[in-house]
Parts: sequence; C-alpha cells; structure tokens
Amino acid sequence: MDILTHIFIPLTLIYVLRRDFKAKHFPLALFTILPDFDVLTGIHRGLLHSIILLAPISALTLLVEYAIKRRLKYSLIALFFLYSHIILDFLAGGVPLLYPIINQGVGIEFPFIVRLGGSISIVDATPRLVYNYPQPIHEIDASPSGFGIASSLMLHLG
Ligand SMILES: [Zn+2]
Repeated sequence: MDILTHIFIPLTLIYVLRRDFKAKHFPLALFTILPDFDVLTGIHRGLLHSIILLAPISALTLLVEYAIKRRLKYSLIALFFLYSHIILDFLAGGVPLLYPIINQGVGIEFPFIVRLGGSISIVDATPRLVYNYPQPIHEIDASPSGFGIASSLMLHLG
C-alpha cells in the first residue's frame, strides 16, 4: 500500500471522529508510516508489523505520556495512527502479526474485477483470506496510487 493512503485515510478518519484534532497534531501522523521503516532491517512487513514488537512500543508510549502529563491524549492518537497502518496492510495483502515467532502473515484480499465488453459484469468481488511471508526488501514504495491521491484530496476537501 502506498504512503499517501497510509497517511491520509487515518488522518481523514481522525479528523471526522475527533473534532478536537488540530493542525498541531499532524506530526503524530508520522506514526502511520512507522511500521514500514522495518525495511531498514532488510525485511518488509516484519518486526514493525508484528504485535510482538508493537505491543511493548504501545505500552511504553502510553506509560511515557501518562507519567509526564497524567492523562492520555497524544499517545492514543499516535497509537490510532500506528495500528491504522497494520489494519490497512491487513486489508492489502496481509501482515505477520506474530513475526518472528510465526513467519507467516495473514490478511484479506478484495479482488474487484469488473469485465467491460458487450456488457459490464462483476467477475469476482468475494473477499478472501490470503497468507504471505515477510519479504527481503531495502526500499519503501513511495509512489502514490490513485487511492492514495483520492484519500489525500478527501481530507483537503473535507
Ligand atoms: Zn506496511
């Protein structure tokens, strides 16, 4: 999934769901792309897509804000952004939720094949469970997709 989609779908959602979300909170949106920095380890959709590492990061984030501010606000927004990435990747090919203990990811794929010709027909629209494995990779795909561009425009117009 491209970087714009990872950033702007959660931004749009939180903007709609939380009326107290202000421009000063925008830097927290960096958490939307944090998991893809696991490419620095040479494995995409690896450690930073796994609950094994995300759970302690989440607990630490909550503890640090609570220890400093005695309330939870920014950390909850940051974790919403962080887990939105995992959910979006789950819906786009799968994530290895228990990596490195279990080296297999799971997700849902939504094939939506429309056949154009003499008539328009939907060939396949059934969601299906897919399995994948963390892949060796050393770069992040930063090329925007049409969906990423559309989601960024949705936030700007909203
Ligand atoms: Zn990812």
